[in-house]
Amino acid sequence: MGGSVKEDLASLGIRPSKRFGQHFLVDESVAHRQVYYAKLSKSDTVLEIGPGLGTLTRLIAPKAGRLVAIESDRRLCGHLSGKVDAEIICGDALDVPFPEFNKVVANLPYSISSPITFKLLEHDFEVGILMYQLEFAERMVARPGTKDYSRLSVMAQHRAAIEFMEKVPRTAFHPQPAVDSAIIKVAPRKPGYEVADERAFEAIVRVLFSHRRKKIRTTMCLCSRELRVSKETAERVAEESGYADARVETLEPSELAALSNLLHEARSG
Ligand code: SAM
Repeated sequence: MGGSVKEDLASLGIRPSKRFGQHFLVDESVAHRQVYYAKLSKSDTVLEIGPGLGTLTRLIAPKAGRLVAIESDRRLCGHLSGKVDAEIICGDALDVPFPEFNKVVANLPYSISSPITFKLLEHDFEVGILMYQLEFAERMVARPGTKDYSRLSVMAQHRAAIEFMEKVPRTAFHPQPAVDSAIIKVAPRKPGYEVADERAFEAIVRVLFSHRRKKIRTTMCLCSRELRVSKETAERVAEESGYADARVETLEPSELAALSNLLHEARSG
């Protein structure tokens, strides 16, 4: 297992770069399952981020109608061009405008997990099968009342249905990372609740999770300026919501939405 990854790296004279998060998949059965989870067909346009040596790319290409892969390491772009049936864009996936796509399959470089996920979620697509560091994946799916429930959980679950598909051991990669990974399925959809103002929702989630152990009333008063209301208004909104004595770590995204709607009303009224 993994011989060809090591051989490819050796023949290209590439020493995997920490900066680019280069941990290449050597257990091909994992890549096969990722492709299976994506349920690809010839009507799909697939985006891959960080194709690396092309392990996943080679499995996606024959199943998709079109495949566009964005890779930031020029050495790997050169290696892939002409060898895989995909359009390779050589650039930083955080900067390059994404083409139209309806599915995304990727083993993400872990250092950009958060910004790349939220960049993806600004686009309209059907499904993403994405590999993350295990700890990050656990935070994405975490429910209220658990230690992993965080701003990331709320903002990801606000925009998409998130499903934990499987844990992937560190031994599936070369070089071996210090932590395990997990495959997550992301399916964007509208939330089942109303949000009057997305910016007010984002602000309240950010502010409240920066003091996750404090009561809602306390944090809202403490951070009233950041919430762009007076201390008195912040306190009134907390009381009106019925969550003044609760802690953010126990509130559902829908309850945070209700709180943000009251904040928005107080700001506009
Ligand atoms: N997909 C390959 C695999 O499964 O073996 C490689 C996965 S490796 C975890 C991450 C890949 O993303 C590397 O090829 C790395 O060069 C590339 N990468 C790192 N930062 C990137 C960025 N900002 N934009 C695009 N690709 C990036």
